Amino acid sequence: MNDDIVRIFDTTLRDGEQAPGCSMTVEEKRQVARQLARLGVDVIEAGFPAASPGDWDAVRAIAEDARDWPLTPIICGLARATRKDIEAAATALATAERRRIHTFLATSDVHLKFKLQMNRQQVIDRVSEMVSYARTFVDDVEFSPEDASRSDVGFLHDVLRAAIDTGATTLNIPDTVGYTTPDEYFALISGIFTEVVAGRHITISTHCHDDLGLAVANSLAGVQAGARQVECTINGLGERAGNAALEEVVMALRTRRARYGADTRLRTEEIGRASRLVARCTGVRVPPNKAIVGANAFAHEAGIHQDGMLKNRDTYEIMHAEHVGLEGGRLVLGKHSGRAALRAHLATLGHTLEDAECDAVFARFKEVADRKKVVDDRELEVIVAGETHRGSSTYRLELVQVSCGTHAIPTATVKLRGPDDRELVAAAQGDGPVDAVCRAINDCVGDIGELIEFSVDAAAEGINAVGGVSIRLRERAARHDDGDMPAHDEAPKFTASGFGVHTDIIVATAEAYVAAVNGLIRTRARQMAEVAA
Ligand code: MN
Repeated sequence: MNDDIVRIFDTTLRDGEQAPGCSMTVEEKRQVARQLARLGVDVIEAGFPAASPGDWDAVRAIAEDARDWPLTPIICGLARATRKDIEAAATALATAERRRIHTFLATSDVHLKFKLQMNRQQVIDRVSEMVSYARTFVDDVEFSPEDASRSDVGFLHDVLRAAIDTGATTLNIPDTVGYTTPDEYFALISGIFTEVVAGRHITISTHCHDDLGLAVANSLAGVQAGARQVECTINGLGERAGNAALEEVVMALRTRRARYGADTRLRTEEIGRASRLVARCTGVRVPPNKAIVGANAFAHEAGIHQDGMLKNRDTYEIMHAEHVGLEGGRLVLGKHSGRAALRAHLATLGHTLEDAECDAVFARFKEVADRKKVVDDRELEVIVAGETHRGSSTYRLELVQVSCGTHAIPTATVKLRGPDDRELVAAAQGDGPVDAVCRAINDCVGDIGELIEFSVDAAAEGINAVGGVSIRLRERAARHDDGDMPAHDEAPKFTASGFGVHTDIIVATAEAYVAAVNGLIRTRARQMAEVAA
């Protein structure tokens, strides 16, 4: 084992995705996984297969996709310490070339007493049994004692020994509730090396939450104590205050590698794209002052700083924006660029498009390039996101027209192409142009969802930058024919998101709304099929 390499275990698709408002569709998860592979992460925790059929599908799809990637990370699935969970993970991962089952059981007294209602010996027995069971499916088993940082240390060591003895090769030490401090976590990891690992060939991993803003500091303390895997997420997504941010851990190790005597294998130039993609798919935006990936992370405003920067960048910069992929990329494409050039350039960005998708992206690219002369990589990313992975479309937007202003009632007219090639036209007034557009579309499609999230982002600097609009709709409660009461009061309502791209944000809004409506229709059809099966 290379002792100076720290492996990056990305859990954006599991811990990150389970945070409120961060859920992604299977297609979005596949896109994120592909970008994580380009970034060069060592392990992708693709999901929690037993949690729902959708989670199982996503892990399965990523395990299959991974076979075509040039860099093949280990694909991992999470499982509680039960046979059913381990079997779900094993079947979802079956097609991956390199696969890992990650199983966990809590070890703190408070979890044993109130959550598990198990005594310590039962916990040790269960861990032994389930790690052995996981090993019957895969060679690579990771075990996590949940709430490790609040567990009795002697008991924690006993559980970890049981996990090693029955075949776990990675032991992950979660600070589940974000309670520990760097010196305390250093001592915890050091103690595990002397008392449990004792020279054996076992990887110790960190998993730190940011409730006290210490997740990255604690993870790095773990690395100093000998941990050689760090679990983290893009943009620090995750339960509550989130997990250790991948970009911060990776750039701290890269920038201060002499200090840590260890580094990761990541291609850091891919960090910016990963951050933007995850923000777009989850709708969770990155604050401007966020370390490494925030819009201001490399901006120098103060005169004295600018003066120093002009004389020598090292005066105020410890790392450079281009090393984390925050620059817009070379402005190589303009309105005279051809389809082949666009396709070749997209391939270097990791997008291999089918012919129909390429046509759609090219048409949209031309439209944008005609309006603003040059299109940079960040704008191309949102164009590709807007034109691909749409899935089947029940409705297509053909026209949108809005009038609004200081003395006008916002009014929108839309024309859609619907099922059986039917033309649907509606006009509506609203509180503003966005509201008017959404109401007009609802009039055409029958008001199937309510708007729960709306966000607009400019893809690049400048007043004429391409705007990306994200919309999330929640299905309206189904109603009885004979009354107003919702038919399924308790049933969770599903949501679907849509993304639209245009230099005109009202057009982008209309496209995003129609895409979300199509998403709701697809999700509803899939759920009906599952119920029928
Ligand atoms: Mn966690």
